[in-house]
Amino acid sequence: MLEQGSRLVDFLSMDSETDSLELASKALCATARLCHERGWVPATSGNFSVREGGRVLVTASGLDKGALTADGLLEVDLEGRGAAGAAKPSAEVGLHLAIYRKRPEARAILHVHSVWSTLISGRFAATGYVTLEGYEIEKALSGVTTHKHEERVQILPNSQDYGVLAGQMTELLVRSPRLHAVLLSRHGVYTWGSSVAEAQRHLEALEFLFEVEWRRLTGGQP
Ligand SMILES: [Zn+2]
Repeated sequence: MLEQGSRLVDFLSMDSETDSLELASKALCATARLCHERGWVPATSGNFSVREGGRVLVTASGLDKGALTADGLLEVDLEGRGAAGAAKPSAEVGLHLAIYRKRPEARAILHVHSVWSTLISGRFAATGYVTLEGYEIEKALSGVTTHKHEERVQILPNSQDYGVLAGQMTELLVRSPRLHAVLLSRHGVYTWGSSVAEAQRHLEALEFLFEVEWRRLTGGQP
């Protein structure tokens, strides 16, 4: 009886996992379309994912994010293994998996190639980070309660070797447990959250901050 009961529990938890993954994937597609409207994922760039337990749904390679639906998401496990014969996930899936492995609370990851993240990551690439400090909107980042917070967004050099990048991302996440985002130089930004809504809030706040900081620096503002 006990075995049957625990099988039933397994089955029910798998079922609720599937339900919440389905809901999260709909929310993720809506967020991807919004990112496209804002010009943050031009020319099929960027990628998006959600995770529930050990299951990850990630965007397939080369899709127009302005028309993304759940059909454009592929399932992989935390080791990147997909179903046999399935379409190819985005080449950057290894970076998503590195984040999920080191941030167990993360349920959604957004990666965009926006103008401001591309510009500011290039400008501060040699320093290795960009500091955002003294802005009210920093309170949109989880756990931040004051504009006096110093958010140091780390920057990795860009590479076409995603295995190397995933290793560097892992090291960064271990070294800096309070990060909300990571930039790739002249490429874009990765951010995540405990839900799609939280990840979107982080991305909107960061985009605002990158633009304000860039305009402040280049406009000679205090
Ligand atoms: Zn990218």
